[in-house]
Amino acid sequence: MKEKITVIPKPVSVKYTEDVYQSEGLSVISGDKSFAGEIEIANNQLRCALEKFGFKGPLCEPGNIFCLKKGDDEASEAYSIVISKEKITIEAASSKGIYHGLQTLRQLVLSEFNNGVLVLPCAEIQDYPCFSWRGLMLDCSRYFYTVPFIKELIDTLSLHHINRFHWHLTDDQGWRLPVAEYPLLTEIGSLRKDSRMRWKPPQGGFYSEDEIRDVVDYAAKRHIETIPEVDLPGHASAILASYPELGCTGGPYQVEERFGIFEDVLCAGNDRILDLATKIFDALVKLFPSKWVHIGGDEVRYNRWEACPKCQKRLAELGLKKPGELQSWITSLLVKMLSERGRTAIGWDEILEDSDKFKLPKETIVMSWRGETGGVRASALGHQVIMTPNSCGCYLDYKHINTAEEPGQSYEPGASVYKAYSMQPVTPEMKSGSEQLILGGQGNLWAELIYAGKFAQYMIFPRICAIAEAVWTPKENKDFEDFSSRLKAHRSRLDTLGIYQYRGPLK
Ligand SMILES: [Zn+2]
Repeated sequence: MKEKITVIPKPVSVKYTEDVYQSEGLSVISGDKSFAGEIEIANNQLRCALEKFGFKGPLCEPGNIFCLKKGDDEASEAYSIVISKEKITIEAASSKGIYHGLQTLRQLVLSEFNNGVLVLPCAEIQDYPCFSWRGLMLDCSRYFYTVPFIKELIDTLSLHHINRFHWHLTDDQGWRLPVAEYPLLTEIGSLRKDSRMRWKPPQGGFYSEDEIRDVVDYAAKRHIETIPEVDLPGHASAILASYPELGCTGGPYQVEERFGIFEDVLCAGNDRILDLATKIFDALVKLFPSKWVHIGGDEVRYNRWEACPKCQKRLAELGLKKPGELQSWITSLLVKMLSERGRTAIGWDEILEDSDKFKLPKETIVMSWRGETGGVRASALGHQVIMTPNSCGCYLDYKHINTAEEPGQSYEPGASVYKAYSMQPVTPEMKSGSEQLILGGQGNLWAELIYAGKFAQYMIFPRICAIAEAVWTPKENKDFEDFSSRLKAHRSRLDTLGIYQYRGPLK
């Protein structure tokens, strides 16, 4: 009997005892009434997994796997699992905690259930996360991922205790969010020509309100919070193609089929862009219960604002010198609009720049992507921070290894599994005392070069497994060799679930 609990992320503590738990078939999970929702999902997850093993019968009864409530603390994510000879007991003080425990159990079943028999070493697992923000961003603008794909992804993320789904809904290449007062955003802005695929009609689509609610609810039941992103005031080609009067030149514009950074952004001198933001935020607040909304704010080019009389007039009225300060002005208004709606803004690290006159409001959360410096600076200024540095393996659109054959973007520092594993939300450069401002980290999948869902899975797995461990497991428990050996068992779990994965060198 191998004495290894090979789950990912690695639990805080595992103590083995001599015995072995062995059961024919798999017991139905039962337990405390307050965990009924989590238990039902877990029973369904296990039933699906067993079918994939070719095990057709129902889960065996009566149950010897129990979920018990211990204490009462809805904020806690901690859980414990005791595997004895006769039974498996999962305990937690919250539904979040019990769900995490059930996912650890799901991992064990996926790798240790063979020929109709589950064999596990008797052990006591104590577990809780290091960081509260453990996320994945999916770019659904450059590639329009279907709802069934997104749900399967969310379910698999939850297997790794990931608890944030950052949904990138708008960009130059497509607008995916319905906004009732601006119907052309979806009528025009969701479609683009796609010269890569000449045999197909224009590429595009958008999510209906019902589909969005369905995804948000599906994720919430798996204790994953969905955070929408609407990128403003740059990456705005799809908006401008729909409403050309919102740009500095008036167009003509098109939903971009090229990839890159474009000069046409929302006109900072036009008050109607604020009405647009108001209506977008109203739509978001209706659909997304999350207290956070991501406002983008990255890669804004200022050429148009420099040349535009309306933007120059605004600059003079506000007493500003540099066009970049207009972005800080816009950001401060967006943050205020969200705050009036009870929401907290998150933005990419560019929102820290040129903010002398219009200071970035203290409550704004900064997502550090251009390396770690944005996170270091933001935390020194007292902002909460989410780390997703492109230099530390968090950009899942980068090649795993730098060969011509490997799919993804070429990028010098690379994004190997090892690099993703080595990611540290709290860096040595951060001021001591600012650790509590670092909420955690996430991986980002940009989709310029990702043409299909299965391809997305290949880019995400197993790097997100490495990131999950980087943000869950205490630093002193992390060991890449140990992770690599557990990954062998973990790969079979992903295979059983039908998830594609990268299988090349890890470093
Ligand atoms: Zn303008």
